[in-house]
Amino acid sequence: MEFTIALIKGDGIGPEIVDSAVRVLDAVSEKTGVKFNFKSYLAGGSAIDAVGQTLPEETVKGCLEADSVLLGAVGGEKWNSQPPENRPEKALLGIRKEMGLFTNLRPAKIYESLSDACPLRKEVAEQGFDMVIVRELTGGIYFGERGRREGKFGPEAYDTEAYSVMEIERIAKVAFETAMKRKKKVISVDKANVLETSRLWRETVHRIAEDYPEVEVEDMLVDNAAMQLVRAPGRFDVMVTSNMFGDILSDEASQITGSIGMLPSASLGETTRGMYEPIHGSAPDIAGQNIANPIATILSAAMMLRYSFDLPKEADMIEKAVNDTLNAGLRTVDIYDKDTCEGEPLGTVEMTDEIIKRL
Ligand code: NAD
Repeated sequence: MEFTIALIKGDGIGPEIVDSAVRVLDAVSEKTGVKFNFKSYLAGGSAIDAVGQTLPEETVKGCLEADSVLLGAVGGEKWNSQPPENRPEKALLGIRKEMGLFTNLRPAKIYESLSDACPLRKEVAEQGFDMVIVRELTGGIYFGERGRREGKFGPEAYDTEAYSVMEIERIAKVAFETAMKRKKKVISVDKANVLETSRLWRETVHRIAEDYPEVEVEDMLVDNAAMQLVRAPGRFDVMVTSNMFGDILSDEASQITGSIGMLPSASLGETTRGMYEPIHGSAPDIAGQNIANPIATILSAAMMLRYSFDLPKEADMIEKAVNDTLNAGLRTVDIYDKDTCEGEPLGTVEMTDEIIKRL
């Protein structure tokens, strides 16, 4: 078996953490015989510096030709004066659009060995949680009609939310398929007591649920979901929600794990090809110092094996190696606690070495 992976290392810590994930994939390759071919492309600030464009044509072509894309992160102070259409973040929106990626999958889980980092009450943290948020990524209010106009009380601004049945159906299917591979439980989050788009969302999710009789489905209003995430995060397994609610709730979910350097994500479309990236940014404050936590990117590579390449055993292998490394008390500085950890914090390269040792 052979797969081509387009690498976009990006800016800041991007090159360091993508190099770590590539080393882990190479080690998986050695152990299993599955072959990964890597091709590097520019996007974001580094692309602006090299060719003046945040998303060069060649990068889009490379992403569309590859079996999947692994991205570090883009952006930094240096490129903040670029015009809006050439800002580094625009590269991400451009790739998502060109690849037709309408789903964002964000797992948020607490590692037993890191439960001290969780900002929730000790008894809640100790119960643990392990959820996946399935966020609709290309529709809703972020893409609706907007503008300024003269209103009843003077000048006003407006944004509109629209969702088609097709857009809701396809994201609901992703949620139910994801649930079938997990605990067979979906919580659909909406604001159906107020919004018409949410009422259509609810109807459509329940219609799709009929095709998945084994999956339990529950509706939850978004305000309640925000509260339940901090009161009883263990209630969630798969959460499916719209673009804006998913944006907010997935950040809330990542914060309650207490470790931004640990969380991976996947963006998927109709085909198996996806884009995989850590949820954190390019962390310019720590770039080039060999102190970034590579785990979020390594786990993003594991998600790629699971969701795009159908290699669940190889994905498990990486996730287990990460878990074993953490259980051995080894930490990068962002998750290091001098009272509970052995020795000194490890650098990016050394943490990667330890994970590879445990594959
Ligand atoms: P950030 O996620 O880059 O950093 C926030 C804090 O977390 C910083 O203190 C940073 O040092 C720390 N951190 C982040 N990742 C870490 C890791 N792997 N290991 C250890 N510590 C880590 O967010 P920010 O500072 O708001 O943004 C910096 C730049 O990244 C901005 O230009 C922003 O636009 C961009 N950004 C890019 C993406 C992306 O490419 N997907 C996402 C978010 C932000």
